[in-house]
Amino acid sequence: MQKTANTTFQSRFIKKKYPASAGSRNSNRPSSDGSSSFDSRKKPSYFGGNSGSSSDGRGDRRSQGQSSSYGNSRPSSGGFRRSSGGGRNSRPKRSFGESIDISKFVKKSSDIQQKELTEITHKFSDFALCEPILQNLKHKKYETPTPIQDQAINHLLEGRDLIGLANTGTGKTAAFLLPLINKVWNDKSQKVLIIAPTRELAQQIEVEFRQFSWNMKLFSAICVGGAPVFKQIGNLKRNPHFVIGTPGRLKDLSERGLVDFTKFNNIVLDEVDRMLDMGFVDEIKEIVKQLPEDRQSLFFSATMPIKIRDLVTKILKDPITVEIKSGQTTENVDQDIVRVRDREMKFTQLSEILRQDDSKKVLIFIETKAEVEKLTRNLVTEGFKADSIHGDKKQHQRQRALTSFKRDDINILVATDVAARGLDINDISHVINYTVPQTYNDYIHRIGRTGRGMKKGSALTFVDAR
Ligand code: AMP
Repeated sequence: MQKTANTTFQSRFIKKKYPASAGSRNSNRPSSDGSSSFDSRKKPSYFGGNSGSSSDGRGDRRSQGQSSSYGNSRPSSGGFRRSSGGGRNSRPKRSFGESIDISKFVKKSSDIQQKELTEITHKFSDFALCEPILQNLKHKKYETPTPIQDQAINHLLEGRDLIGLANTGTGKTAAFLLPLINKVWNDKSQKVLIIAPTRELAQQIEVEFRQFSWNMKLFSAICVGGAPVFKQIGNLKRNPHFVIGTPGRLKDLSERGLVDFTKFNNIVLDEVDRMLDMGFVDEIKEIVKQLPEDRQSLFFSATMPIKIRDLVTKILKDPITVEIKSGQTTENVDQDIVRVRDREMKFTQLSEILRQDDSKKVLIFIETKAEVEKLTRNLVTEGFKADSIHGDKKQHQRQRALTSFKRDDINILVATDVAARGLDINDISHVINYTVPQTYNDYIHRIGRTGRGMKKGSALTFVDAR
């Protein structure tokens, strides 16, 4: 990497499609403007002292406000179309995918102070929440509502339907749980159904439910795939106030007559865009069809594509919309790319990044379950403390990997998009996209796992630079 003058990352890209040319990288790189870029082949150590400008390459680059990039290219149109063929290792076969402008993977985190300027107009005590909930909030050390809580809770307490345009990391779980717990506390005939795309997200919601409803004698049942159904059936038979589940298992249990959706007068659909991406649209429609007409409906999604808007009009009545810009969840994240010129070197490049001192807790994404398995095996063989989660693993294996990661028994977790959906692990230092995500929305979801709260995070995306 050449030493470069200070530069803002985005204005320096050459307008070129990735990976339109396998030609010289230098042809992509402006020589006059002094942008930096990372050449993985010449500089085997991505962050290391060889990176050109200093003995502390990456840190210095950052402090100078620079960014490495893939040939500093910003496609003016089209951008990067996912290849349906490509190489076996770095670019698995895909039949679809969005055109992602590769410059979107390069962004310096903004000044964290800005985040503090978001105006919060309420304290928790301003909301008409019952005393036990306020106590539980204190116990959980929640002092100030997050923007989505600030904007949504009063409307939800009034019984309004809601569209929450927000990602994981915004505090949306408490935004819907607190008013609903309050509602059930005041009227025990209320029953709440919460549907989430993945087991992990459903489990996280249940954990938060228990914390917020501590000592309130409210019960929940979790209904997710990959876990023994008998316990779930047992919990359902206790007529819980809250049922939290994934669409497939819920539908299965309802077909077996074990859960009756007509009894739920409150529904929360969480991460709807992801549920639709995962092909759960029929299950959702089927479940919603059985709900009573007179109900409160809450709908959370990071994005609002047309197919979701259709669903919204069918499910919600006169909803209010609260939008928390998805950028807010990634503004603390330094985003950069790692150019892979030689597929054989890709794993070496990854290992070097993982050996850096600042790679404290790393979540690595790859597309397929087989790739997740293979990479995890290779990392463990290399001596890294790594484990994996993906859809083919049993729930207890996934949970064990997650717990080890949360407790720092391991510091590397390799995952598919689906398995890592909505994971709430606060101190992830790096998200590494070992393969480029299918869509930019997936990318945002992935990198939103780091840079939580007021912490800085790093996101690195491996791109094929051949
Ligand atoms: P969520 O978007 O619901 O997954 O929440 C993201 C993280 O923020 C979780 O670890 C929550 O426990 C945490 N959180 C949510 N609301 C608050 C709050 N008002 N104060 C402090 N932490 C919060």
